[in-house]
Amino acid sequence: MKACCCIVGGGPAGMMLGFLLARAGVEVVVLEKHADFLRDFRGDTIHPSTLELMHELGILADFLKRPHQEVRELGGQIGQDFVTVADFSHLPTHCKFIAFMPQWDFLDFINEQGAHYPTFKVKKQTEVIDLLETDGRVAGVKANTPDGPIEIRADLVVGADGRHSIVRERAGLEIENLGAPMDVLWFRLSRRPDDSGQTLGRIVNGKIMVMLNREDYYQCGFVIRKGGIEKVKQRGLESFRQEIVSMAPFLSDRVGELRDWKDIKLLTVVVDRLRKWYRPGLLCIGDAAHAMSPIGGVGINLAIQDAVAAANILAERLARGTATVVDLQRVQLRREFPTRMTQAMQVFMQNQVIERVLGSEQQLSLPWPLKLFNRWPFLRRIPARVIGIGFRAEHVHPVR
Ligand SMILES: Cc1cc2nc3c(=O)[nH]c(=O)nc-3n(C[C@H](O)[C@H](O)[C@H](O)COP(=O)(O)OP(=O)(O)OC[C@H]3O[C@@H](n4cnc5c(N)ncnc54)[C@H](O)[C@@H]3O)c2cc1C
Repeated sequence: MKACCCIVGGGPAGMMLGFLLARAGVEVVVLEKHADFLRDFRGDTIHPSTLELMHELGILADFLKRPHQEVRELGGQIGQDFVTVADFSHLPTHCKFIAFMPQWDFLDFINEQGAHYPTFKVKKQTEVIDLLETDGRVAGVKANTPDGPIEIRADLVVGADGRHSIVRERAGLEIENLGAPMDVLWFRLSRRPDDSGQTLGRIVNGKIMVMLNREDYYQCGFVIRKGGIEKVKQRGLESFRQEIVSMAPFLSDRVGELRDWKDIKLLTVVVDRLRKWYRPGLLCIGDAAHAMSPIGGVGINLAIQDAVAAANILAERLARGTATVVDLQRVQLRREFPTRMTQAMQVFMQNQVIERVLGSEQQLSLPWPLKLFNRWPFLRRIPARVIGIGFRAEHVHPVR
């Protein structure tokens, strides 16, 4: 099999790039190892920057018809104090909110948009196991399918296969690990109609928990020390339930919904980036190029911004067969600055807040910069901008 561009991984980065390249007339195949997009929770946040891209593509109205929740403010509880840290209502975007939608619905939607173009192809149940090389240049991939092994040759292979990318490993691309002091336990608890509607991070007595309001349930993230899962399990499920209740007492009537450790998923937090995102014939984007900390919930949106930048820089040249390694370098140059800035902020928060909280049994008081957010609400626009739009927002180029 042959394609102009072969994308490994049907996550946000891979599906978006596939759609944008097909829209520009490039023959593209996206290889996804799973049979569908239905997976465990992997982040549901579609930020204003991504919604703006959909507006530019003329698909926003259709997207917003799908079930979703709109979050206009992000708040936090530190001990007994509440603070609103981000207010999206002043952003210079069409949507002044974060849309919460299960990731599989979002990926299905992009898949449907891509399917309008004859050059767009998605091959599911196709797991890439190695790269094909010719004269030191990546020339395609080897993959396993239910019908047996296949080879796909391509002018460009894009590694969009996430944080455990086989593409970057087989390509021998060097990884810079920035470290993370925590892992996150994700689970669901039901939500009652009379519960608070706010999406809230809580810091109480040396513990941190995030609760995302998903209408009829809360998606909860409980932060633990890196590698601490075995200790949590040794203390037992009942002890874990009580830790949750100690942070949010109103959950006492439903923590019993956590019946088994299988109801709780571990996210091993990794923050890393490739020193070089490309080789002749190969480019990595999204988590494969830079795994993000969950702080700010920006991983999906950064992955999509990478896809847009890559399509803007490469589509025309791929269609003409003139893409060179210099073009791949331009993608890295374009996206490295926002990646570094975002990771620098995440690492700062990890070291200054998460590490300190997890290392202390005592209750932190509301830090003075956060007190200013309560006194001068306009300050909430700054985190809203960083989280909602980020650094160096991409815009979709029109197709010729
Ligand atoms: C539990 C959890 C919670 C998260 N919460 C948030 C959040 O709230 N907000 C946010 O923005 N981000 C969040 N993230 C991060 C976010 O999911 C990622 O940053 C984002 O999905 C990256 O997109 P991607 O397309 O680069 O990679 P991925 O989403 O990881 O997609 C990679 C795709 O490649 C496929 N694949 C992997 N290997 C192969 C192979 N060998 N062959 C073929 N296919 C392959 C995978 O099945 C997958 O579909 C969370 C992540 C996790 C794990």
